[in-house]
Amino acid sequence: MFLLHSTRTKPLGDSAHLVDLPRCVTCRRPSRVPHSTIRFASADSKAAALIERPPHEQVVRLSRLFLPTFNAESLSTSKAALPSLGLLLRGGFARQSSAGIYTLLPMGLRVVQKISAIIEDEMNGIGASRLEMPTLLSSALWYKSGRWKSMGSELFRLKGRGGSEYLLAPTHEEEVTRLVADEVQSHRQLPVKVYQITRKYRDEPRPRSGLMRTREFYMKDLYTFDADEARARESYEQVRGAYSRILDRLLGANHGAWLAAAADTGAIGGDLSHEYQIEDELGEDTILKCSTCAHAANQELAQSSPRHDPSVLPISAQDLRVELYELANDPAGLNAADSDAAFQIAAERSPARLWAVVVPRDRSISPVQLRKAAAQDLQPLHKSSHCTQPGQFSASFDKVTVLTDAECSAVEAQEVCDAVAAGISALLNEDHGTSAGAAPSLEDFFPPVQSLQASALVDVPFMTESSIELSYGNYREAADGDACSSCAAQGRAGTLVASKAIEVGHTFLLGAKYSDALQVGFTPAAADAANSPASSSQRRVPFQMGCYGLGISRLLGAIAQRSATLGGQHGFVWPRSMAPFQVCIIANGSNADGLAQVLQALFHRPGKVTGCSSDHPVVANDVAIDDREELSISRRLKDANLIGFPVVVVIGKAWREKRHVEVIIRDAQSVDGTIKCETTLIALD
Ligand SMILES: [Zn+2]
Repeated sequence: MFLLHSTRTKPLGDSAHLVDLPRCVTCRRPSRVPHSTIRFASADSKAAALIERPPHEQVVRLSRLFLPTFNAESLSTSKAALPSLGLLLRGGFARQSSAGIYTLLPMGLRVVQKISAIIEDEMNGIGASRLEMPTLLSSALWYKSGRWKSMGSELFRLKGRGGSEYLLAPTHEEEVTRLVADEVQSHRQLPVKVYQITRKYRDEPRPRSGLMRTREFYMKDLYTFDADEARARESYEQVRGAYSRILDRLLGANHGAWLAAAADTGAIGGDLSHEYQIEDELGEDTILKCSTCAHAANQELAQSSPRHDPSVLPISAQDLRVELYELANDPAGLNAADSDAAFQIAAERSPARLWAVVVPRDRSISPVQLRKAAAQDLQPLHKSSHCTQPGQFSASFDKVTVLTDAECSAVEAQEVCDAVAAGISALLNEDHGTSAGAAPSLEDFFPPVQSLQASALVDVPFMTESSIELSYGNYREAADGDACSSCAAQGRAGTLVASKAIEVGHTFLLGAKYSDALQVGFTPAAADAANSPASSSQRRVPFQMGCYGLGISRLLGAIAQRSATLGGQHGFVWPRSMAPFQVCIIANGSNADGLAQVLQALFHRPGKVTGCSSDHPVVANDVAIDDREELSISRRLKDANLIGFPVVVVIGKAWREKRHVEVIIRDAQSVDGTIKCETTLIALD
């Protein structure tokens, strides 16, 4: 306290001026602030003081930080289109290197490090170990898993000098499976949970939305390995709990700040999956949330109860939407349209299977439900698959599966089949009717065989009892305003409400997919007990895996978007946990005594400064001093708003006149999610 009445007026920022200050009783360094309360790891306080700098030396002086900020007028129109990107550029958080590739400036890196620290804390909490796998991977394992081919143009591929193939990793399932398989032989070494926070790569066709869809990005990816499915599910739930805590800590536990939605397992595979979404109208995902229960799902997976109102449901073929599909990657598929090659391939091919999906005209077809029903990858039927001669098309199938949506049950089955036949005919642009002008029938699309009828050989379609398969189910995509199927199952009424959201995380229960693909596993308990080398080598069982991603650049982009919406064009209003600095003190060298008092209050009298916790002192390196004296106080205040410091302390005119400091709070962490913005004058004595 002996320092509180100092009237020193030397400029800031030069340690030479500190030499003639009183010395701290703990570390004997010259100090404006006593820091005898700091605890060091070592008992030898003098030695420890050399390792850990005292708090007043840990505060960051913005005059020394690379912090290029600029005003709104200097922002190009294309960048200004996305408010959060505009603020990230203006506030000196990031710079674009090329399309979808960004440099993080010190201010942006601080936010990323804060996100990473919270993630790391929660990952450690569930017993996961951090490691780092290479970004540059050999193609060998990716051939084995089939993803070298299936990931197509999304993968950045490159060649080494000897011609060997490499990729820039977008994810590490193959690599981590091999790594763990090499080290883990017995069930006693399980479970294993490993994660990394590294840069990942994806060749986005259209990088957009600032940091939200980029070609290079930071991601946390966690992989769990368990001995059986039950334990893998336990791990999955454990990680879901950690994800909830991470997002609550990042966004504040405001109701509705984020949501977990059931999701499609897509190309990664597996049988259980959730997406973690932050609602934002710029989001690319559509989420359907129930107004009554906790049900939330991505629109592609959401299920709704069929409508019952006869006035909106189809009653005839005119009210139906029909879409036609065939097996994906057909040799005469989309790429060979109308060419001689397509004709050649189609001519040599046996008749094919057709899937027809029928939904009400005002609904869309759910690709996920279609894929589940077909249990195969399908693609839209293309006329080139049915080219009989160059320029001529005629479809012929050995089996037609008609998947009819439950909302079409009022339409006669025959009428549904006729609608499918009309759909095929329209696609091939030819008349398949038995007589000119007659409507086609599904039977017309089966290969003709000769049959003896009324003592004469005639052509009839070759069909068996199972040639046309009709099934009813939910094949429409759920939409805004539909009835919630979870509520309906319990006799309640709930309505699905659609909203746009940004996906920031995804969890997958993978099962044995990658262990099977790479043919690896461990010795189970039973074989281990038998202690027989022969039986154990024969009885290796696959690992039950889970993989869990959390996009850190995406989180920065999505929360920036949210913070920009809250703060308007003036700047960000970050959640406290993510603000680059908790406190910014705007001061000039002429008010050094005021600065000393503010620092003293921040570090040693928690709660003295309005807006700071009364329980915990502010962490020293979370305090910035804006000592850029070449800029006016009002310009520095503008920058403080732009960057989004939750607490700004101005030591200016009020200090000189009345020994008061001005405290400005811009805070997003109030209960209802609205921002608090207030200015108070406080006396520190
Ligand atoms: Zn519901």
